[in-house]
Amino acid sequence: MTKDRQSTVSVIKKYDVRARKKYGQNFLKDENILQGIVDAAEIGKEDTVLEIGPGTGALTAFLCEAAGRVIAVEIDRDLIPILEETLGTRENVTLINADIMKTDIREILPEGCGSIKVVANLPYYITTPIIMTLLEGNAPIDSMTIMIQKEVAERMLSLPGKKTYGALSLAVQYHTEAKAVMEVPPSSFIPPPKVSSTVMHLKVRKEPPVNVMDEELLFELIRASFNQRRKTLQNGLKNHPGLHFSTGEISAAIEKLGKPASVRGEQLSLEEFASLADLLYQRP
Ligand code: SAM
Repeated sequence: MTKDRQSTVSVIKKYDVRARKKYGQNFLKDENILQGIVDAAEIGKEDTVLEIGPGTGALTAFLCEAAGRVIAVEIDRDLIPILEETLGTRENVTLINADIMKTDIREILPEGCGSIKVVANLPYYITTPIIMTLLEGNAPIDSMTIMIQKEVAERMLSLPGKKTYGALSLAVQYHTEAKAVMEVPPSSFIPPPKVSSTVMHLKVRKEPPVNVMDEELLFELIRASFNQRRKTLQNGLKNHPGLHFSTGEISAAIEKLGKPASVRGEQLSLEEFASLADLLYQRP
């Protein structure tokens, strides 16, 4: 099965691939890392995998061996003929030339495929928007195994009171069980990025860890709190265009939550944000 797998270095050389910065192209060359990503994703022949940004196809080839079907969405039109050639002998891959941010994932999935596993070495310039779109969209995603900047991984796992804690931490922890799988040094890529990377495994939760009456309100509150990090929670919520509570309603809810008027959003846990959302939802 592995005999026709081509190394990243040889594909780049053969097709004279010039990595495009604007698409966040850093191609993985380390086969141990490629295998490590596939292992962490726990893929079997019953699985359909969505790969975002197959690049020169290094990870795609590993995925094709492990999965039943691979759907790979690549924005760079110039890479498509290269992918077609390097993956040519594999029958279980579908290549799509598209921007993942403009793609309705449900429309590109084969009929009756059930839930999918997302696997990607993500382009770093739009990591957070891609993750948020996947988390908030309604595609049937079972898990995401993604290579991201180490600093973004730290933000995902961060807790209240830490500098790195924010809207991304809360969204990831609300929607998934997240864990860091391994760190990857810049030398594993061509060209090497300026930062270290982390492979994360996000298992999408069937039920959120907290109950909340209005999920949209919860995330609007979270956005408002972290948009103006330096402000108190009270002022952040008061000045946010998406929220229309009076100053009195906001301060009453914060008081009922048992927090001082000076509390900042970054000090609230997910449970506390959920309670605050319910208090404001049920305001008299
Ligand atoms: N998977 C390859 C690997 O591991 O070597 C390439 C990873 S590279 C970090 C990111 C890939 O995502 C590039 O191939 C890039 O062209 C592609 N990409 C960037 N933005 C994209 C978008 N909006 N939609 C789909 N693919 C995108």
